Amino acid sequence: MDLKELKLKVALIAVSVMLLAACTNNEKNAELKNIPFGNKQNEPKITDVAEDDKDKETESKDESADTDENKTEEAESDDETEEEVNDRMPNEENVYDQSSILAIVNRGETLDPTYVPRDLVTIEVPYVNDIPMVNQLRKEASDALTKLFDDASKNGYTLYAVSGYRSYDYQAELYDNYVLSHGEEVARMFSAPAGASEHQTGLAMDVSSEEVVYQLVDTFGNTDDGVWVNDNAHRFGFIIRYPYGKDHITGYMYEPWHLRYVGTDLSYELYESGLTYEEYLWEQGIDVKN
Ligand SMILES: [Zn+2]
Repeated sequence: MDLKELKLKVALIAVSVMLLAACTNNEKNAELKNIPFGNKQNEPKITDVAEDDKDKETESKDESADTDENKTEEAESDDETEEEVNDRMPNEENVYDQSSILAIVNRGETLDPTYVPRDLVTIEVPYVNDIPMVNQLRKEASDALTKLFDDASKNGYTLYAVSGYRSYDYQAELYDNYVLSHGEEVARMFSAPAGASEHQTGLAMDVSSEEVVYQLVDTFGNTDDGVWVNDNAHRFGFIIRYPYGKDHITGYMYEPWHLRYVGTDLSYELYESGLTYEEYLWEQGIDVKN
């Protein structure tokens, strides 16, 4: 399609995805129901995403020229001392430290209302929502996301960031609105109460692709882009946090789009074992709630 068509399409998409940014992890159907939420200041402007993306693509190409540098960084991280590596694996202390990249967050282990990550940065990958808050991640997670997207791109896959950091208050407002419109029992099925969303950690990013019209839907997991994400996210320190068939453990339905950054030491462990984070911690004798 030509650029005009693309712009029109992207503008339409911007309208449909504006709801997504406000969604919690499990709100994949919520946006289809046209549920009102949020206050005006949180509503996105509909902007020319195609132009943004074009700029980002150019940046990505520039960055991918630095492959030697990236290799050097990877080589250096292999040389970490055993102590440093161990520190990157979960233990009784760091899983309960909400500022740790290994923090466990679910419906049973929640974050303080006052917790805000100190090192949030604006992501440097193509995004679909023009809401500054949700286009943020913690620095380390953002850097890893850039590498993930660059590698996807090199292999012929195109990913888009949909929703990253969300504050406690933002989540609380959303949840309250869902409860008002649907009742608590229903709201609970597709939304997380404030404090129970990993998005508050600044370590979670929802991703999507053109094939599923930039939506957060489980069919993303069957697309070429989604399969690639599933098979490769761990190489960059991310896990598919809510795998298929594990909702009774994680508290969330299958979400092939929800990536949680945990660092490569743990991401490989989880990927290779096929365990959820909760199951892995239980195997380690760390009795987290879920
Ligand atoms: Zn999510």
